[in-house]
Amino acid sequence: MLTTLNEILPQARKEKRAVAAFNVANYECALAVIRAAEGERLPVIMQLFQRMFRSEKGGDLAGTLLRLAHRCSMPVVLQLDHGAEAWQIREALAAGMSSVMLDGSMKPYEENVSLTSYAVRTAHMVGASCEGEIGHVAMGDDNALTSVEDAVRFYSDTKVDALAISVGTVHGFYKAAPKIDVARCRAIAEALGGVPLVLHGGSGTPPADIVALIENGISKINIATEFMDTFLKSTQRNLEALSGGFKAVDLFNDPVVDDCAAYAAKLLRFFARK
Ligand SMILES: [Zn+2]
Repeated sequence: MLTTLNEILPQARKEKRAVAAFNVANYECALAVIRAAEGERLPVIMQLFQRMFRSEKGGDLAGTLLRLAHRCSMPVVLQLDHGAEAWQIREALAAGMSSVMLDGSMKPYEENVSLTSYAVRTAHMVGASCEGEIGHVAMGDDNALTSVEDAVRFYSDTKVDALAISVGTVHGFYKAAPKIDVARCRAIAEALGGVPLVLHGGSGTPPADIVALIENGISKINIATEFMDTFLKSTQRNLEALSGGFKAVDLFNDPVVDDCAAYAAKLLRFFARK
């Protein structure tokens, strides 16, 4: 069933567990996520990266994702990931997504607040939810850790439904072991009461750090790189096994979907502390 962050994250936060948010870019990965959620009897979040809304990919995939969400017996949130501009918020909501993220974390504070507030208002108008980000989770080295003061001020200025914070993770694969600042996460969580906190750059973060962060306020964990890498590696293995032969593409993809579903199930379970 299609749902919003507000129907799954506050409860997860209370119970000290997190919901996995997988970035998907094709039908096979989306199918894998839905199978994993059904199999584990757990809610899940599927995300489309904002770039996809710069072409027909976003709307086309949103249609597929909606169908999958409606036929799933577990709660499914469909979220725009890293929305950068107002039109992307409108486009994603018009395509049926039940949640949006507005990422203004690289912009000056006032601009971040004004864009994020617009996204919150627009999302709420159509019964959707909205995530914002303060501090910056980078792709490489220009990480800006979130301060408690900024988190409190940004939340009171925007009233986002979930807040992405920067506590040491980065997007993409790690080049060196990350230094995760659990104490910072705990301080932000205490200052913000029950607001669900979001961890970006979850891929490859050491399990012990993940558990500590979940116990200290993180209730949504984004996984893009490792999930997509699972798809690529599995495709490569199966292509090599085919060794130049032919197979109908849907049949070729079946074992790839199985591999992706197994990966997603493992993380869903782990984040749910099962
Ligand atoms: Zn992210």
